[in-house]
Amino acid sequence: MKLFLASLGTETNTFSPLPTGYDNFKETYLVRAGNHGHTPFLFAVPLVLWRRQASKHGWSVVESLCTFAQPAGLTTRSVYESFRAEILRDLKKAFPVDMVLLSLHGAMVADGYDDCEGDLLAHIKSLVGPKVPIGVELDLHCHLTQQMINNSTVIVTFKEYPHTDSAERATELFQIMAATCHGNCKPQMSFYDCNMIGIYHTTSEPMKSFVDEVRQLEQKKGILSISIVHGFPWGDVSEMGTGILIVTDNEPKKGENLSKILGKKLFQLRNQISPDYKTIDQAIKNISIHEDGPITLADVADNPGGGAPGDSTFILKALIDHQIKNAAVACIWDPIVVAIAFEAGEGSKLTLRLGGKMGISSGFPIDLEVKVTKVIPDAFQTFGSGKEQSVSRLGDSVALHSNGIDIVVNSIRTQTLGPDAFSNLGIDPKTKQVLVVKSMQHFFADFSQFSKSIFYVDSPGALVSNFGKIPYKKVNQTKWPLKK
Ligand SMILES: [Zn+2]
Repeated sequence: MKLFLASLGTETNTFSPLPTGYDNFKETYLVRAGNHGHTPFLFAVPLVLWRRQASKHGWSVVESLCTFAQPAGLTTRSVYESFRAEILRDLKKAFPVDMVLLSLHGAMVADGYDDCEGDLLAHIKSLVGPKVPIGVELDLHCHLTQQMINNSTVIVTFKEYPHTDSAERATELFQIMAATCHGNCKPQMSFYDCNMIGIYHTTSEPMKSFVDEVRQLEQKKGILSISIVHGFPWGDVSEMGTGILIVTDNEPKKGENLSKILGKKLFQLRNQISPDYKTIDQAIKNISIHEDGPITLADVADNPGGGAPGDSTFILKALIDHQIKNAAVACIWDPIVVAIAFEAGEGSKLTLRLGGKMGISSGFPIDLEVKVTKVIPDAFQTFGSGKEQSVSRLGDSVALHSNGIDIVVNSIRTQTLGPDAFSNLGIDPKTKQVLVVKSMQHFFADFSQFSKSIFYVDSPGALVSNFGKIPYKKVNQTKWPLKK
């Protein structure tokens, strides 16, 4: 048996002005032929696992490209086409192969390609033919298209948001695919479109219980896997939205019925599963009510993980205006400030113009007198725990202190995933009364372990949470909550 593995992904915010080109992929994660070292990125974790599991079976593995770009705007056409060509070239070279396993995102949009993953899968299927099974792991924030379903054998998405189960889902996919190759099952996929758009935290009720129910149903005979596809609301493509995907062992009718039942149930829950957002004013009020810290404020609208710039200053300005002390903010993306602070060095005092540079959604820059408390070349942070922990680069980074507020400034745009985004820069997040993180939900996995309270702050920014205000051109306007 010979397996062919590859990974290509990004989550395209079609409204972002930042293009996604080769440098973004190279800076975020780009590895060839399985050279992951000890620090795989989230979307590389499945490949590392599949290689391990294949070797247990005595199967050989050919690994092609594994790359991911920090979410931003449209991927340039030439970059997508050159990565696709590289994967197809490696696949042809590896012939004959018995199985193809891919770790993709599912919401990658390139100039001229609204459905990059569907296009890639169609090319792969036309090369390997109908007899070689193709297994795909996707982020739950994918646009699950008919083209993807038609050109793969099994698709499994993450179940958890924050995405703490990438490894668990990779193992599940491997087992279904191995059974398929051995002739022990015949996967059939059924998809139900819920006709709705949303962001759903699987850490809150009733979404948590809905995921638990799905896990129970997966134990039933004939059900191989159930994926709750959340969709990515900031991708303006025709098949964006929420749905249920069921993989059965050759029981398409059963899959169709069950996906419909679950999809309708999820639609019924739509008002209860949307996050409880606070305005900045409400969040500031809560800080004064809750004496105990840390109180973590998630700056959801400026989450670089959803394609936002990561340099907005709205919440920082509110902390300064309300004279809130013993606070820490991570990470503000400002490579110019990083370069200046590096030049000055640790311990130096500077007057800096910070953040607010990328456009209206970033607010205004803030002029601050700061002390440079830490300077770290090529800093990093971690996400998740245990063997499958993944690492994310922050680039050259500095910690600044101004008027009771510590600020982490990074040079590689990325969302704040773990508390070590603070501690690696010499700031102990557990001793702070207020923490501000630029993240929509991934931060929750680790920050919920020690935060006394968490508030999701719907500040102004690039990721508008009122979907009715997003100027969609391709998304079907009958979807909830767009339908008038
Ligand atoms: Zn996601």
